[in-house]
This record gives sequence, C-alpha cells and structure tokens, in this order.
Amino acid sequence: FLGQITLDGPSGTGKSSVARSVAARLGAAYLDTGAMYRAATVAVLDAGIDPEDAEAVARVVAEARIEVGTSAGTELVEVDGVDVAVRIRGAEVTRAVSAVSAVPAVRRRLVDQQRALVEAADAVVVEGRDIGTVVLPDATLKVYLTAAPEARAQRRAAQLGLRTADEVAALAVDLRRRDEYDSSRADSPLRPAADAVVVDSTDLSQEGVVDRVVELARS
Ligand code: C5P
Repeated sequence: FLGQITLDGPSGTGKSSVARSVAARLGAAYLDTGAMYRAATVAVLDAGIDPEDAEAVARVVAEARIEVGTSAGTELVEVDGVDVAVRIRGAEVTRAVSAVSAVPAVRRRLVDQQRALVEAADAVVVEGRDIGTVVLPDATLKVYLTAAPEARAQRRAAQLGLRTADEVAALAVDLRRRDEYDSSRADSPLRPAADAVVVDSTDLSQEGVVDRVVELARS
C-alpha cells in the first residue's frame, strides 16, 4: 500500500488500536493527532492558565515544542523535550483537551504540523477527528469509525479497568460531553467526509475492523 489512510471518529470506537494495527499490517507510518492535542494540553496545564482562556491557550501553544513519533510500534510524545507519553492519557489532560482543541489558532498550528509529518511518508495511517474532512481532503482512503454509545462506554470502561454500572454510566456521560464539544467546533466538526467509508464497530471484533480496513486499502 502507498498513500494516505485517514481514520476518524469519536472516542471509544477502538480507533487507536485499529489504526496502529492497520499501519503495522501495511508497513505504513502512523500518526495519532489526538496525542498532539493532548500534548498541547500538557503545555497549557503546565503554564498554569485556564484551558477555557482561548487567547492565553493560543499564546502558550504557539511557543511549545510538540513532538510526536510516526511509527506504529513505539509511542513518542514530547513537549519541550520532556516525555509526556504516559501523562497525556491521564484524567487531567482528558478533561481539558476538548477546550484546548477548540481554539482555532491551536488547530491551525497542529494541522500544519500534521501535514508536514505526513508529507515525509510514502504510506501513512492518520488517526483523529477531522483528518478526512480538513487535514487530508485528498487522502487515498477515508474511514470513519462509529459504534453505539453503550459499546463505546463499555470499551473505555474495560480499558480503564472500571466495572460497576455506575462507573460505566459516568463514562457514557463524559463521552457524550466530549462528543458534543467536539461536534460543535465550527471549523472542523466531528462528522464523516462525504467520500468516507463508514465502518460500524459495534458488533465487530477489533481484528474484524482491522481486516475490513486492510481489505479496503488493498482494493
Ligand atoms: O483521540 P483522542 O481521544 O486522543 O483525542 C483527544 C481530543 O483531542 C479529542 O476529544 C478532541 O477534542 C481532540 N482532537 C481533535 N482533532 C483531532 C484529534 C483529536 O480536536 N484530529
């Protein structure tokens, strides 16, 4: 496979695992754009500013050096030379990331960086929310991954080791809040590109989804 595969969709669809596996199977590079928004959020939190203060957020992110790896095998995420690969997955960053990624100047900066990273690769799988619609409108293959809200909450709960019905219900509320926030951005709404293939993962295993995307890439 040569070209660009975009994998968009809301959280809890198994998107990251699928994107990594597809990249490994195709021998392609891999870019997790969510990790870049999360890294920008680390810079904002460390600067001690309010993530809802758009002007201050734009200023801090403009000056932060954000580096992400493009290999499916390893996760390299750094802010100003400091490894933040573990920290970006924490609750503090997850709570603030939607506000930071809603700032237009932040999006412009990271989208430019994403395009530059992708340009260097012959084959690449890029995962995010707006990759097929905004970042790479001419991609070779666009996939939009969906799943029923309950299935998404269950999957996230399993990842986090949560079990009780209350914990899963709380996760469902948080997923819905992030969906609404992510869908409301005027400049890059969370929706499938007109030419995307929509894959519903509710009743598919992860391997099933990976097989389907690899098959689409090879056809
Ligand atoms: O995919 P992940 O859950 O790591 O993304 C974290 C957050 O980053 C999302 O909730 C969204 O607010 C933001 N994001 C975005 N555009 C992307 C990827 C992620 O706005 N392309």
